[in-house]
Amino acid sequence: MAGIYVHVPFCRHKCSYCDFTSFPDKIEYAEAYMACVYKEMKMRGEELKDYTFDSVYFGGGTPSYIPPKLVLGAMNRIRECFRLTDDAEITLELNPGTIGESKVQTYLQAGINRFSIGLQTAIDEQLADLGRIHNARDYVFATKLLKGRNFSTDVMLGLKNQTKEDVRKTIELASACGSKHISMYALTVEDGTPIYTDYLNGELPDTDEVAELYDYGCALLKEKGYERYEISNFAKKGYESRHNLNYWKRGEYIGFGVSASSFMRGKRFTNTFDLDEYMKCVISGFYPAVTSEEVNEADAKFEFVMLALRTKYGVSMQEYKNEFGTSLAEDFPNALKKTVQYLQLDGDNLRIKDEYLYVQNSVLMPFMEEERAE
Ligand code: SF4
Repeated sequence: MAGIYVHVPFCRHKCSYCDFTSFPDKIEYAEAYMACVYKEMKMRGEELKDYTFDSVYFGGGTPSYIPPKLVLGAMNRIRECFRLTDDAEITLELNPGTIGESKVQTYLQAGINRFSIGLQTAIDEQLADLGRIHNARDYVFATKLLKGRNFSTDVMLGLKNQTKEDVRKTIELASACGSKHISMYALTVEDGTPIYTDYLNGELPDTDEVAELYDYGCALLKEKGYERYEISNFAKKGYESRHNLNYWKRGEYIGFGVSASSFMRGKRFTNTFDLDEYMKCVISGFYPAVTSEEVNEADAKFEFVMLALRTKYGVSMQEYKNEFGTSLAEDFPNALKKTVQYLQLDGDNLRIKDEYLYVQNSVLMPFMEEERAE
């Protein structure tokens, strides 16, 4: 099975930490842009006619900012051009500052059955500091509109002046509002974003402080019934994100829209990050991909291990062998020796011990070195 990603690059306001492809002042392009996305889908339809897709993900940007009929249009086009399973997971990212009853009705009509809400923190001063367009009350309002439905909540760690108490309030709010899934991840500070100045001024928590907030958050999430199934992702039983699990299983996916990435038939390719160029390209009937690379076998093996070790399931030794014809022990003998104290074998699955999951990058380093040495 494979996934479909649709990038919607419009936002009402640029957040202070944002390094995503999102445009705060171009909403008037939304209709023309989505017409290009529909066309790009049509262009790919024939070549992907043998595929069956079981997840669709509208990410951004802020997909809930554009007129909802454009999301409905995208879903109609997807169904027209691709084979979707009846039970496909269809997720839409939603900003609590952009939602209302009628929008939700249109999303449901479009078949959206999972929402991912960007709360980040329940502390209004921190939201204002991040340049978010909503407050905690808007989040509560949004969750009331989605009552009883499958939604996830984003929680961010490493914010200015953030305490454990703030993390507790945020997780408790998400849990009390009925979130089935929580993504809790550390703020990444990119050079060139406004928040970078705070970082340079030493106003953000350091790595150890963030790790402490993370451990605290993990314990609380467990107490609230969310199981960690990936470093940053926690779900109530049966509510893991199928779309994201496909990425971690190194499954195939096709991305549509500006800056969207794809992985199909052993090739990774990414569309242009330039909105005008994207639209011109598609209107002229060309694929808007600007980078494309065939993944060689050594890279594929490392990717398989790296992605799988992010999850609680770890690497299935049998699946590895089925995929590559060689065993993990044959391909990474030194890395396995060097990391033995961080790993545990559960039946066929080799996984990082719970207490080391947060520092998985250092566990992966020997695997990367061994892959490069090949
Ligand atoms: S809502 Fe998301 S994509 Fe838009 S500016 Fe904020 S962080 Fe960036």
